[in-house]
Amino acid sequence: MLNKKLNAKLLWMQFEDVLAPRLGLTVKERAVYSYLLRHSLVVGKLRLQFAVMALARTLGLAIGAARQAVRRLDELGTLRVLKRCKTGHLVEMRLPEKIRAARPGKNGASLVVGVVGAVGMGATGAAGEPPASALEATDFLKTWALRKTIHDRERGACFYCLRRTPAHVQCLDHVVPRARFGRNSYRNLVSSCIECNSRKGEHPATNFLRTLYRQGRLTPAELDTRLRALKDLAAGKLRPVGFEGSK
Ligand SMILES: [Zn+2]
Repeated sequence: MLNKKLNAKLLWMQFEDVLAPRLGLTVKERAVYSYLLRHSLVVGKLRLQFAVMALARTLGLAIGAARQAVRRLDELGTLRVLKRCKTGHLVEMRLPEKIRAARPGKNGASLVVGVVGAVGMGATGAAGEPPASALEATDFLKTWALRKTIHDRERGACFYCLRRTPAHVQCLDHVVPRARFGRNSYRNLVSSCIECNSRKGEHPATNFLRTLYRQGRLTPAELDTRLRALKDLAAGKLRPVGFEGSK
């Protein structure tokens, strides 16, 4: 249970007006998120157990679409899937102020501040960090300097196979090739070697990492760290190095 009761009205406004547009949620993802929100945070619970089949039936979605929406909401960091088994999913919802994309910038959305105040939580963002909104809105393919911040984050190693990549053979790879939103976001771009860049193609990044593992290019421990890095990337935890915000 949550210590403090959330202000459901503000929570809803924040979801509709800030979170959903900023994360680029599709109609289906919005429906799934609303359903989960109503049965968790709105009624004062952080965790929620549900069956994807029942969720899909309630919302009139195909099971595959419902499952995909839950997976994407997890990748975006709005919730965390703790357990997935026959009886259903156990998820933990993330409090709004913990979702980086929804955090207020200097001139950020006051709705977020309102909810944070209502929840009784502290202020967000470490001192000196660029405004989250500027970071989230930035196209990192736009300039050489911005591209370099992504390469610098990977410290000269390929994000997938971990091989050293000298500057002249570094590529920027889209983790999700046709991401609907934030295609050139720091959450979707990684520095990679040419080989991984061309071999990965349209395959999902997790499948590609497992292929590298099966081919002996990654150890079990490395596969583990890479899969975790993918999650952290989508959740906005892997910030570009030296990004100053848009000027
Ligand atoms: Zn590579």
